[in-house]
Amino acid sequence: MLQVPDDEIAQAFFVPKLCNHCATPACVQVCPVGATYQAADGAVLIDRTWCIGCGYCIMGCPYGVRFFHPVEHVADKCTFCYHRISKGGNTACAQACPYGARQIGNLKDPNDPVTVALMTQRVGVLRDEYGTKPQVFYLGLNKEVR
Ligand code: SF4
Ligand code: SF4
Repeated sequence: MLQVPDDEIAQAFFVPKLCNHCATPACVQVCPVGATYQAADGAVLIDRTWCIGCGYCIMGCPYGVRFFHPVEHVADKCTFCYHRISKGGNTACAQACPYGARQIGNLKDPNDPVTVALMTQRVGVLRDEYGTKPQVFYLGLNKEVR
């Protein structure tokens, strides 16, 4: 039987990408009118009434998670379901996932299960070297996909 060297075996990874709600977000820095902003709780949001559709934030996001809303012609992205979590609810994706693969938590609470997971398990963020301080963490993220 033909033996394939370990370094020639292809590996596939499934890594869902969403807005990282970065602690130092590049998108906020480049918005010329302040339409992209950081809420007091850290969520990165877009005020559609101020957005002029210049696209700077779409180019400025190093993760490529922003896009133009095709009807409203403003920048758009994942909001962490801010309309839900700001009222104590869960994100739609976390609620819908049958395996609990997505969890949202309060990192200021040391007893929050997400905080505990970050303290006790191997986690990684995407492109740490960009210095954007992503706030989306992946359990067991392989170095090959960071
Ligand atoms: S992932 Fe991109 S759009 Fe989201 S906060 Fe970070 S820089 Fe902004
Ligand atoms: S598209 Fe809108 S949110 Fe993005 S940089 Fe331009 S004005 Fe700001």
